Amino acid sequence: MADAAEVDRAVERARAAFPAWRAVAPGDRARLLRRFARIVDERAEELARLEITGAGHTAGNARWEAGNVRDVLDFYAGAPERDHGRQIPVPGGVDVTFAEPLGVVGIIVPWNFPMVIMTWGVAPALAAGNTVIVKPAEWTPLTALRLAELALEAGLPEGVLQVVPGEGEVAGARLVEHPDVRKIVFTGSTEVGKLIGAKAAEQVKRVTLELGGKSANIVFADSDLARAAESAPTAVFDNSGQDCCARSRILVQRSVHDDFLARLTEAVREVKVGDPGDPASQMGPLISAEHRERVASFVTESDVYARGSCPSGPGYWFPPTVLAGSSSESFRRAFTEEIFGPVVAVVPFEDEADAVRIANDTAYGLSGSIWTRDVGRALRVARAVEAGNLSVNSHSSVRYWTPFGGFKQSGLGRELGPDALSAFTETKNVFISTE
Ligand code: NAD
Repeated sequence: MADAAEVDRAVERARAAFPAWRAVAPGDRARLLRRFARIVDERAEELARLEITGAGHTAGNARWEAGNVRDVLDFYAGAPERDHGRQIPVPGGVDVTFAEPLGVVGIIVPWNFPMVIMTWGVAPALAAGNTVIVKPAEWTPLTALRLAELALEAGLPEGVLQVVPGEGEVAGARLVEHPDVRKIVFTGSTEVGKLIGAKAAEQVKRVTLELGGKSANIVFADSDLARAAESAPTAVFDNSGQDCCARSRILVQRSVHDDFLARLTEAVREVKVGDPGDPASQMGPLISAEHRERVASFVTESDVYARGSCPSGPGYWFPPTVLAGSSSESFRRAFTEEIFGPVVAVVPFEDEADAVRIANDTAYGLSGSIWTRDVGRALRVARAVEAGNLSVNSHSSVRYWTPFGGFKQSGLGRELGPDALSAFTETKNVFISTE
């Protein structure tokens, strides 16, 4: 666990490494990132195993995540050679813009998707010519430490990518406070995100914030109800519901509400919860005993409509749980607060306007899904829901080709996609007189 002095030493190393790293020719920086991606690919199984051990991810998820780390590094390896400025027509001379790297970037990572969330910041930050310090979550530092070793093996110079495991309030807070850290990328709870935003403002420090969510899965009567119901459990129970994009509120048009609930119950009972190392498991345990207690505090027996199964014995198990048909205070709380566990709350709605009203009745705005066969309605509702990542007749949220981030209190700024480098650069304008 790094203390503040250890963080200061890491910042000093990152600062010292910056001038040489930004001066690496774009093609050479690209080659180094491609080599890093290749080494990650060769070690994908090892990285996946670390994530299964450290974070309890299922084998299927962990393997996908190792592949995602490789792909994100590969995608941004293409960026240094395309980090174009502009030439702007002005009288009396030539005007050009440059995308300058910021310097030292701090990336603070949560425990729910340790290696992928780290890489969504690391890859574009390095591609843009910054040096990076990662502060992983207390519970899940293993893949971050291993990735930093693999970066060295790929030939990235010392000090370009460092990992400082430590407590949020010690190591994380020091990164936020340190005047030589020019930007913080923070993914985590809205509560801590607000603190970090306020602290960073004292130095006008750049921030990207990826925070909590309470996303809506909106099912219209004209949808393919079988597909909507079959896919709904994965959309919320994947990674045991410890997913900021979890569709933890299901809004169903009243005329098909009961039919949908019957189909959903069947699908929930089929979710295979078990040893995350077993490739047949679709859902593993929760991250800790403390977190299981928190999740359980949202579930009142009389609100439970259906439940899947889970192992008993060692492990922080929690069964997939559906809350419905209740208007109690406890149901209301489960319907509005982020639970971050395998619990979904279902409510009926009357019409399109009602669905949009309920979906937007939250401080969050991260993602959401819309199930309908009417393409006009799909687009109307997608435009009306206040969230950064919506999918129609699917539940996809994060694709590295496309921008990802939240509206309202779900965050500030965007990661991934074609424009991610602009979050790690400053635009510099230079005018050259020709007179
Ligand atoms: P958290 O806010 O408790 O911690 C996140 C990170 O911040 C950890 O590394 C922690 O050590 C650090 N931290 C804590 N206090 C700090 C402080 N005062 N100063 C600096 N750093 C500090 O969140 P968590 O419990 O690890 O993660 C769960 C939350 O993350 C959920 O709310 C979830 O929705 C959110 N999340 C959001 C996204 C997204 O992209 N929007 C993705 C994943 C998770």
